[in-house]
Amino acid sequence: MMQDKPEWDEQRVLNVFNAEDAQNILLCPIAPTCEEMALWERHMTGAYSTHSGYNWFLKRNSIQQEHPRIWHRIAKLKTLPKIKSFAWRACHEALPTGKRLLEVGLGDSVCRLCTQDIETTVHALRDCLRVKEILELSGVSSRIHNGGHMSLKEWFEDAFPKMHITQFTTMVVLLWNVESREQDGA
Ligand SMILES: [Zn+2]
Repeated sequence: MMQDKPEWDEQRVLNVFNAEDAQNILLCPIAPTCEEMALWERHMTGAYSTHSGYNWFLKRNSIQQEHPRIWHRIAKLKTLPKIKSFAWRACHEALPTGKRLLEVGLGDSVCRLCTQDIETTVHALRDCLRVKEILELSGVSSRIHNGGHMSLKEWFEDAFPKMHITQFTTMVVLLWNVESREQDGA
């Protein structure tokens, strides 16, 4: 590129590359150069404010405190390793849900159980009407399985302190069963 100008240094490109490559390079437009400026990524305007800085600081600290807690709790569940592994993957949004499969070009993302909604992890394991029926029949209170959590991890974090450890473990085993049956196409 030319110094201080958004243009190719044509002679230099021709000297360095063969004719075909040089032609292709010279056809590529270059974005106008502009001065660098510092932007604060935690605010949509890019401008730093004490308020947004404070919020970011609180959020960062709460994430650092929350993460070890849920992972620790999952690790301590008295159940099979494959079920703990399932809970861990679910909290990491690492299950092959319709939404995840669509991201890699497979399927249409629609939940196969209810065929009404996009199958996110929290839909597949809590919000799906079919799953809610199972949870209710199994005695999981609607106080537990209702909520506006955006991720399974958030839901587990919220539900864990409200349930007895054996209740929570039973619910995770139940969810594992739902997920396994769905993956088997049952
Ligand atoms: Zn569904």
